Amino acid sequence: MSYPRVEIDLEKIKYNTVKMVDLCSRTGIKIVGVTKVFCGLPEIANCLIKGGVDILGDSRIENLKKLEDVNIEKMLLRIPMISQAGEVVTFADISLNSELNTIRKLSECALNKGRVHKVILMIDVGDLREGYFDEDELIAAAGEVLQLKGVKLIGLGTNVGCYCGVMPSSNNLSRLVEIKNKIDEKHEINLDVLSGGNSSSLSLIQKNAMPEGITQLRLGAALSLGIGLNDEKIDGLYYDAFKLKAEIVEVKEKPTVPVGGIGLDAFGQVPIFQDRGIRKKAICAVGKQDVDFNNIIPEDNNVMILGGSSDYLILDITDCDKNYYIGDIISFNLTYAGVMNTMTSEYVSKILI
Ligand SMILES: *Cc1c(COP(=O)(O)O)cnc(C)c1O
Repeated sequence: MSYPRVEIDLEKIKYNTVKMVDLCSRTGIKIVGVTKVFCGLPEIANCLIKGGVDILGDSRIENLKKLEDVNIEKMLLRIPMISQAGEVVTFADISLNSELNTIRKLSECALNKGRVHKVILMIDVGDLREGYFDEDELIAAAGEVLQLKGVKLIGLGTNVGCYCGVMPSSNNLSRLVEIKNKIDEKHEINLDVLSGGNSSSLSLIQKNAMPEGITQLRLGAALSLGIGLNDEKIDGLYYDAFKLKAEIVEVKEKPTVPVGGIGLDAFGQVPIFQDRGIRKKAICAVGKQDVDFNNIIPEDNNVMILGGSSDYLILDITDCDKNYYIGDIISFNLTYAGVMNTMTSEYVSKILI
């Protein structure tokens, strides 16, 4: 039994996946199951597959490598580094792209390996992250990609709701359909895939506003945390598949205002305290090296997070009905960033339940 740990409920993640696969299939949309929030752990990735996703996607090659033996198509979500082109074609079947030089390199590497790598061209519809902003530039690029022998242009994609928080709409996703039609006509082809964004785009299906022609969504947060647009909970999904558990190493009554002159804390800030008298406090053996405390929510509503440092989390447990002792375990729900932090920290055990 080692702590701190993240406990991962595989059944809940599979359940969320089944629900979303079913919802999306009603509008002819297939799902790329995104594994990055849990660092590509194969056991969890397998739940997404059992839940019915068609492709696995991750932003990092390191995570796709862990999935090498998992028998399903894999997609690299982050625009590839040209320096990693060889690994990209080895570990991913598909990648999202916005730079011709990189695509040429992917083609060259794929040819060397006797493969054909699938390419989706990204359109920036306004969130100002990756993708072609200029439509003519994109259409010209598509023409060039079609000439390359080691890559196959399979479609177009976009991402919203990430850098600028631009929300998905039938307007901005319709641009994918319009541009696809222009490319199809110009080059006498029929691009298969229109990849209409991440979990935030599910809101359009729920509002019956998903433009006809969108064929794919890339879902991470919805499957792992049951959340979509604006981090709102999606009805009927589990949002607590990941829990952080930490062990109490000290319980003492202490003042709420420190004793002595106040300088900088461990993270270079001058902390401010409110005098609430003497309180009963518990210290847990988990710290900011493992998770940002803004991303953990105690399951016991009466536990209050006071703060901490690299290795300690300090809680006010005065108002708790339960008497906590050293060695007891405190359980926390996690935000998206909380799951990502704890899954990434090598000091946090990952326990599948
Ligand atoms: C992370 C990511 C996703 C998945 O986003 P969620 O909000 O977790 O559904 C989709 N597409 C790209 C390009 C990503 O980087």
